[in-house]
Amino acid sequence: MNDTLPQDAALWRHIRDTAERVARLFDYRQITTPIVEDARVFLRTVGDESDIVQKEMYVFEDRGGDRLALRPEGTAAICRAYLEHGMGSWPQPVRLFYIGPYFRYDRPQAGRYRQLWQFGAEAIGSDSPATDAELIELQHALYEALGLTGLVLRVNSIGTAESRARYVQALREYFRPLLPSLSKDSQRRFETNILRILDSKEEQDREAVADAPKIPDFLDEADTAHFGQVQQHLRDAGIAYQVDPYIVRGLDYYSRTVWEFEPAEAGGQSTVGAGGRYDGLMELLGGPPTPGVGFATGIERIALNLKARGLGPEASQPVDVVTVPLGEAGASACIRVARDLRAAGITVRASIPGRSMKAALRGASAVDAAYAVIIGDREAAEGVAQVKPLRGDGEQRTVALEELAAAIQAG
Ligand code: ATP
Ligand code: MG
Repeated sequence: MNDTLPQDAALWRHIRDTAERVARLFDYRQITTPIVEDARVFLRTVGDESDIVQKEMYVFEDRGGDRLALRPEGTAAICRAYLEHGMGSWPQPVRLFYIGPYFRYDRPQAGRYRQLWQFGAEAIGSDSPATDAELIELQHALYEALGLTGLVLRVNSIGTAESRARYVQALREYFRPLLPSLSKDSQRRFETNILRILDSKEEQDREAVADAPKIPDFLDEADTAHFGQVQQHLRDAGIAYQVDPYIVRGLDYYSRTVWEFEPAEAGGQSTVGAGGRYDGLMELLGGPPTPGVGFATGIERIALNLKARGLGPEASQPVDVVTVPLGEAGASACIRVARDLRAAGITVRASIPGRSMKAALRGASAVDAAYAVIIGDREAAEGVAQVKPLRGDGEQRTVALEELAAAIQAG
């Protein structure tokens, strides 16, 4: 889990602000759910054989004996909130976005952490392929707005539960004779959720996966038509994509459309963001059948990609004024002056009283302040300050305290 240090704050704020701005352009509204949920919200939905439930979820018992989880992902909790707050009676689809920390006991490495921040969006209550395309377009617009251009978008359809059952049957027959050559994880997945073998990141599974039956051959007519329309809408929106039959996503609740965005020069932890349709999820939570589709994108991975490309805002936070108090009356005057300057929107860094003028000025130069405002006991008595420009070679001058803000703002 990481600290976000001051030098990264501007970049993070930029990503968050951009994400919120783009989401609002599509009329998505922010939802914030608790960081801790009843563990069943995730256990019932994400899938017993998903990485999240198998090995990544932080689960603990609270003092009352309830089993709680640090939320590992956003969608299930948002669907829980949709049911709890009767959003089924709002105009459909309900369009929501979120941003916040999520927790997974992942194997830490660059771009993979145990506290990860996600921005995501969900549209709940529409099964139209136009909605899938809208989510992909929103996600694409976010990356474009950040300057993260040229990410590769891979899309697939994994069909409905019924069409997937036929596919799973074919995969069983194909993988059974290959079992001894597969990784331990994939051997287990063969029994519990065979689709996840396709998603395996183990080198030794790759070859077997390459020749496996492909899901497009097993989709029914309605699935194929739905997927075709998603692709048509993407072309209408001018968004380039590749169809990749191996994308199945890590979570069990997906159906039909699934997708991932990745840099062209892909590496191991490179997926920047991913999404999919989850038409069966609401029923797993005990709600009425309600279709939904959404995506999540990792803020750390966006930040890494922006840094690698040298994009993002200036990290520096300019200091307008450093106060230099000399003597007791000067120290009192500096506090009042700093208050008035800040009220006028001027950034003031206060020097600690009791230091020498030389030390205070050195400190002011070190933070690249525009001005030092020096007030000793004599200036305090006369109601003035010495204003010393620190950038460039302007002259030090005496300014009345009530004119100080205007003088600084005038430059
Ligand atoms: P992966 O296959 O990389 O484990 P995932 O399928 O678990 O990804 P999702 O659950 O779809 O990922 O999460 C969406 C996004 O959240 C990812 O595309 C990635 O940007 C980010 N993400 C996921 N896990 C982590 C992590 N441990 N640390 C940082 N970011 C992460
Ligand atoms: Mg994962």
